Order: sequence, then C-alpha cells, then structure tokens
Amino acid sequence: MARRVWAAVTLSALSAGNSHILAVRSSHVNRPKRHSYSSISTWEECPAKYAYSYIYNLPWPSSAAMERGTRLHSLAEDYLNTPEMPIPYDLRKIGPILDRQKQAGGKAEVIWLVNEKWEPVEDQKDAKVKAIVDCHYVAGEVLHVDDYKSGREYPSHRSQLELYSILGLLKYPLAGRAESAAIYIDGGYSGQDASIIRAMLPHLIDKWSTKIERLESDDDFIANPGSGCRWCPYRKSIGGPCGESAKAGY
Ligand code: SF4
Repeated sequence: MARRVWAAVTLSALSAGNSHILAVRSSHVNRPKRHSYSSISTWEECPAKYAYSYIYNLPWPSSAAMERGTRLHSLAEDYLNTPEMPIPYDLRKIGPILDRQKQAGGKAEVIWLVNEKWEPVEDQKDAKVKAIVDCHYVAGEVLHVDDYKSGREYPSHRSQLELYSILGLLKYPLAGRAESAAIYIDGGYSGQDASIIRAMLPHLIDKWSTKIERLESDDDFIANPGSGCRWCPYRKSIGGPCGESAKAGY
C-alpha cells in the first residue's frame, strides 16, 4: 500500500523521544469544545487517536466501506423524505422497518444539541454535545430513536444510542421514555434495542458528563495500542505518525 503523505503538522517533533505521549497542551492547539459519541468513544479507545483526529485534524482517509455507508444513509434519508419513493434496492432488507418509520412520521438526519448544562440548544456554537440522529419519531409518550448501520453489529452501538436517547428525551420533554434500536441494513433486522425512562436521566447524564470531563482533562493523550490499531489510519505501517501501533503488530 502506498505510504500516505501526512498534513504539515509537526507530529515527529511532538512525539520525539516519547512516542507514546503526544504533548498536546491547550495553549498550543484548539481543543474541541463540542463532543459527539464518535469523539468520546475514539478517546476511550485510544487518546492518541483522538488527538490526531480531533485536535490536529489529520485526515481520516475515506474507504470503500465508509463511502458505501454514506450512500446507504443518504438513500434512507431520501426514502423517509420522499412520499412516493419506492424502497431503494440496496435497502430492501430493511424495507418493512423503513416503511414503519415512514408511516410513523420518521424524521431523518436531525441534529440534536445540548449545552454544558445539558439544556437543548439550537446553535452549534452554544453546544457541548452533538448528535446527528438517523431517524426519530414520537408515538404517544414514546420517543423512538433509530440508527442505521451498514456493517456488523457491535455492543458499542447500544452505547451510542444511549447518548442519543438522552439528548432526545431532553429535546422532547413530554416523552416519558426513549426506545432505541440499531437498524442493520445488510442483515435486515434491528438490534441492540434499549429503553430509557425519564427517571434514569440524572444518572445517565452524570455518567456521560464524567466521560467528557475525563476527556477534557487529558493533556497527554497516551497511545493505547491494541486490536483497534489494525483499522487506525494513523498506524505506522501505512505511513501514519503513530509508532506505538508496532506494539500491537500493526
Ligand atoms: S495506531 Fe493504535 S495506538 Fe496509534 S493512534 Fe491508532 S489506535 Fe492509537
């Protein structure tokens, strides 16, 4: 595979002599003030990967799988938004689920934002946490939160839906509970189903606030080499800046 040319960021200087620590200091770089499930989970997996991606904005090369996922999400959005559109061929396995969502008035690709007090806000510059929700609708007192998945089923999908459900219950104060599911496009089924009642919100908000506080208090971004290095765009073996990947065999 061709070695990639990395952005003009002085990563070699940053990691010189101590390759497992990225000397990221808030006085030198613009740290993100807004977080998403993706950024939080990336930091939990490997703080160095988070720093490369979200602080130094090193390019995350696209792949065929990512491009396919984007295309399938666009098709689902078009289907929900277009009254007479037939089920797209590539979404045929989840056709009954899409029909149910459409008949229920499912809204596609809506952005939910909360500020640092976990209050819903409209302006992204006021937001502390952001979620882009593939499909949601309200039926009676139940808020339904669905996320389309073009790959395999992973337990982390439930964690993502938990954060989305928190934001949803804050956005819809009359909803008594949120029911969430990941919709597996290739398998044609929904999985990782979960339900959150409003009374659980204080505990869950505490849990996610703690995650965010830990991320924001990190100044070292110590690499965490492991199986995730295999898919990491920053691994040394493909010309990336992270020499720690060698410890995991990548
Ligand atoms: S290659 Fe591995 S250790 Fe290095 S940034 Fe990526 S996930 Fe972290």
